[in-house]
Amino acid sequence: MTTIPVFHAHGAAIPKLGFGTGRIGDKTSIDAYGEIVAHALKLGYRHIDTAWKYKTEKGVGEGIRASGVPRAEIFLTTKVSHEYLRADDVARMVDESLNNLKVEYVDLLMVHWPSPDKVPLAETMNALAEAKREGKARHLGVANFNIALLEDAIRLCPEPIINVQVEYHPYLDQTRLLAAVRRLGLAMTAYCPLGRGRLLSDPVVADIARTKGKTVAQVVLRWHLQQPNVIPIPRSTNPGRQAENLNIFDFTLSDDEMKRIHALARADGRIASPPGRAPDWD
Ligand code: NAP
Repeated sequence: MTTIPVFHAHGAAIPKLGFGTGRIGDKTSIDAYGEIVAHALKLGYRHIDTAWKYKTEKGVGEGIRASGVPRAEIFLTTKVSHEYLRADDVARMVDESLNNLKVEYVDLLMVHWPSPDKVPLAETMNALAEAKREGKARHLGVANFNIALLEDAIRLCPEPIINVQVEYHPYLDQTRLLAAVRRLGLAMTAYCPLGRGRLLSDPVVADIARTKGKTVAQVVLRWHLQQPNVIPIPRSTNPGRQAENLNIFDFTLSDDEMKRIHALARADGRIASPPGRAPDWD
């Protein structure tokens, strides 16, 4: 079984490859998610990313229990949705997430999208810190924050922030945010690492994949892995592709190959930017 290396950030040991459980519409039932997550854990994934908003928490919890993998060996994350960032809402939503998952704590609790115009960030970050102090979250983080908001969150939160989760794949340049992440000693969890499938038909990556005897998805995920602080969290509902995405620890991309993939970044590369919710991206 593949052993996934860990990245250390502010006391957290985070497996360098995660497993996404974002759901597309209602295509995948909770029962199916239980089987999908159980299979991923049996293969060797140890970092599972969910969110209240995905409606996959119950399935993820079922999957964890069905897998037989001890809870302590799993790095489990969830997120508080942007509508619930008032202190009492955060407290209620954390309890709801733990209840959905049927676990006593999550390893990482994140703000899913910022909403500082509606709720002062200090109130939200204090509420997250309270959840940590109560033992309901081991570590705290944010998602979809720009550099300014990230620095505000760190300043306002009485407990350490260990990561920022953002979209990151070869079509989206994240140089500025990544420099800040490294300066601050955080992890950058890369969501949509495969560009939700857009990268899979890229001719440059396909060319590199051929020379390596690997698939396009494996080369893209390896590109993430070779960047310090970056942790990709690909999603796959398919057992074969779950195994494929895990099989990225036995080859290396050269500096030139890394550069060729970096050069694919383009101005319209961003996928997730909901109007009225997305911050001014860096
Ligand atoms: P993604 O992982 O880039 O792409 C998922 C898509 O790629 C699925 O359609 C999957 O299909 C396909 N796929 C996966 N592995 C493949 C392979 N080896 N070969 C061919 N196709 C493959 O996109 P994502 O699900 O949007 O992002 C990953 C995770 O990030 C989410 O699940 C969620 O946990 C998180 N996320 C967070 C946020 C946020 O706001 N914080 C936003 C978006 C996503 P199959 O299932 O059929 O394999």
